[in-house]
Amino acid sequence: MADKITLVDGTLDVPDEPIIPFIEGDGTGVDIWPASQLVFDAAAKKHGKRIEWKEVLAGEKAFNETGSWLPDETVQAFRDYLIGIKGPLTTPVGGGIRSLNVALRQILDLYVCLRPVRWFQGVPSPVKHPEKVDMVIFRENTEDIYAGLEVEEGTPEAKKLIGLLRDNFGWNIREDSGVGIKPVSETGSKRLIRAAIEYAVRYGRQSVTLVHKGNIQKFTEGAFRNWGYELVRAEFSDVAVGWDDCGGKPGDKILVKDNIADITLQQVLTRPEDFDVIATTNLNGDYLSDALAAQVGGIGIAPGGNINYVTGHGVFEATHGTAPKYAGQDKVNPGSVILSGVMMFEHLGWSDVAADIVRALEATIADKIVTYDFARLMEGATEVKTSEFAGAIVDRL
Ligand code: NAP
Repeated sequence: MADKITLVDGTLDVPDEPIIPFIEGDGTGVDIWPASQLVFDAAAKKHGKRIEWKEVLAGEKAFNETGSWLPDETVQAFRDYLIGIKGPLTTPVGGGIRSLNVALRQILDLYVCLRPVRWFQGVPSPVKHPEKVDMVIFRENTEDIYAGLEVEEGTPEAKKLIGLLRDNFGWNIREDSGVGIKPVSETGSKRLIRAAIEYAVRYGRQSVTLVHKGNIQKFTEGAFRNWGYELVRAEFSDVAVGWDDCGGKPGDKILVKDNIADITLQQVLTRPEDFDVIATTNLNGDYLSDALAAQVGGIGIAPGGNINYVTGHGVFEATHGTAPKYAGQDKVNPGSVILSGVMMFEHLGWSDVAADIVRALEATIADKIVTYDFARLMEGATEVKTSEFAGAIVDRL
């Protein structure tokens, strides 16, 4: 019988027939979601499992049916069932909500944005050795400039803030400035870095790199780095060691090192083998995850998850948008949602289901059966529709 996933002593308790809420998504969501669900159901069935999908509404579909972009029932479903998955959502222009994705992350305090970046055999890539890219990015999801604390140029609020900073701190900010605040807390940084190190331990990873801009922003980005090393010493000294504490020679422990953000963007390209798990603040993580996704096949195939490891909540999602010009054409690549599902299954401990989907996806691409986005970059490819691509994966499970 279908049942809820629960959190027992800090660990997810997953029944063989979990109830999982999903948001189909706007635009191409109507194409991608059914294709992905076909793959998920077939892979689960192979291992004697079944998912009871529970549709919840958000975005345009929700607005048209309920008048709300993010109905309370949807948020409540994600709260109650702990783990969910979603397609892309339109960001309402001029609406009250800045972004539905951001709203969900904030309401559920999903403090980790998890973005694994690896290459799958056969996927067209702009670099010579995409197989060297195998990184997992932990991007802080609740603070930094994305907390959205800013005032608009010329408003009374901006004038007041600029005046206050001048009078109290002696900071001279041009009168015609918009001003944003970048909070980076010890709590926020440590829980993010803790999750990254625990992940490295669980999956036998070699290193965790703290990526920051601490050379310039010492009390936010620099503090993030320092808190990271502090955390290693205080909580992980049995399994991990900071670079300075071992001279870069960690023995059989996980090496925790740090890197400035700008040089990191070069080095992930020139020597990707040096990077494994990455923990970083919000804006750095935004740039890094998109730049890295491009190296291994781009937006059509990049998955993501937003997780709170303490409460057990997780929302896995396509990282691309709704691509409205292709909506309803059964054309786009469902890879991003399919691989988000793979992440979700790994997170649930269904590693056999996850591994099967990856194998079947690779076999499909190796047979050069791909959607338009890959077909235009591959020689001799057979271009198929979204649904046909999913069918080909199911055939290879
Ligand atoms: P987008 O929807 O991601 O589309 C940009 C381009 O990316 C598409 O034109 C297409 O490139 C490629 N693409 C996107 N999805 C693809 C797929 N499944 N398979 C293959 N290629 C794919 O970005 P946008 O046009 O800037 O944004 C449209 C809407 O999505 C906006 O309302 C935005 O706010 C929203 N959005 C939502 C999310 C989310 O829910 N996570 C994220 C970003 C944006 P080609 O045309 O070159 O083939």
